[in-house]
Amino acid sequence: MNTFKALGLNDAILQAVTDMGFTEPSEVQEKAIPVLLREATDVVALAQTGTGKTAAFGFPLIQKVDATSRKTQGLIISPTRELCLQITNELKSYSKYVKGLNTVAVYGGANIQEQARQISRGAQIIVATPGRMQDMMRRNLVDISGIDFCILDEADEMLNMGFYEDITTILADTPKNKQTWLFSATMPKEVARIAKQFMNDPIEITVGTKNMGAENVSHEYYMVNARDRYQALKRLADANPEIFSVVFCRTKRDTQKVAEQLIEDGYNASALHGDLSQNQRDLVMKSFRARQIQMLVATDVAARGIDVDDITHVINYQLPDEIETYTHRSGRTGRAGKTGISMVIVSKSEVRKVRTLEKIINKKFIQKDIPTGMEICE
Ligand code: ADP
Ligand code: MG
Repeated sequence: MNTFKALGLNDAILQAVTDMGFTEPSEVQEKAIPVLLREATDVVALAQTGTGKTAAFGFPLIQKVDATSRKTQGLIISPTRELCLQITNELKSYSKYVKGLNTVAVYGGANIQEQARQISRGAQIIVATPGRMQDMMRRNLVDISGIDFCILDEADEMLNMGFYEDITTILADTPKNKQTWLFSATMPKEVARIAKQFMNDPIEITVGTKNMGAENVSHEYYMVNARDRYQALKRLADANPEIFSVVFCRTKRDTQKVAEQLIEDGYNASALHGDLSQNQRDLVMKSFRARQIQMLVATDVAARGIDVDDITHVINYQLPDEIETYTHRSGRTGRAGKTGISMVIVSKSEVRKVRTLEKIINKKFIQKDIPTGMEICE
């Protein structure tokens, strides 16, 4: 068995690893950590969702920054506010035994002056969303001209969301001689383009098969009349009383509508989408993590990269516009070695999309029938 110690991590980090209950490194950690610790080079690391990429770059980053200097040395760019906060919290627990190390989250919807104040007190690491980061750059509230490490996390998601220009603008303000680490679940053209344009002869680390969904997720589809979609969702929830799930809708409007309907019908549900205030979004995520919410109805953007333990079901209430997004949705379950089910509700005309999905994830879907009302007490 490989150990974290054998990867070259120092005692402060090893102590935190023990506290977190990680017993052995995941494959991407095993492959990436020694390279990132030792080599002064750019790295592209590809590993499916839920494989521990945050620690794969987080541990080496924490070990490499100088906590005795207050200068900003590491910048992590991540696609969404939720993810930005999640990474910040993780880095804080990784570095809890490293004296003087500060990580600050920079994301929209929260007070910019307060974030600036936190940075001015000395933040060796900044975790930022592209929009807010640029805002801070324009107002001279942040200085990234001397960073040593720039990490692009969930790069495929960021480019999917149209952040190419933003990333370019941010990178233009960073020094040439920094190291760039790019982490991604998949390697679409746009990611390859970023790597080619902004990275210097990167070492490529690949885990598992590129573009494959998580191993321990089973995929099911349910064929319904388009107008029975909501009814089908309720039946699926009734048939799985212990359900703890993310229900994906295509638009903010549908997300809100489905969540409201579920609440009205007595389910333990809540909506998560970009029209909510940051405060509301934080509250929803907090209750979901605390399992006070059983069904989180969300848009793709809002739920991107979210890591909540033990999600039992991912429900595709509607299929995503970009079929590749399915991999990211289903990656919300089956994390850290657990099993999970990804369900797709489709109308007859959409069944061919299931066949396309099978090719993308390289796995067969099981066709199932919606549990009938008779099996369930209504
Ligand atoms: P990714 O970014 O690859 O989608 P995350 O970094 O969010 O994955 O990690 C997924 C989950 O696995 C997190 O809950 C994390 O705490 C957990 N995890 C990461 N590394 C390990 C490990 N070595 N052992 C056990 N759990 C781990
Ligand atoms: Mg991640």
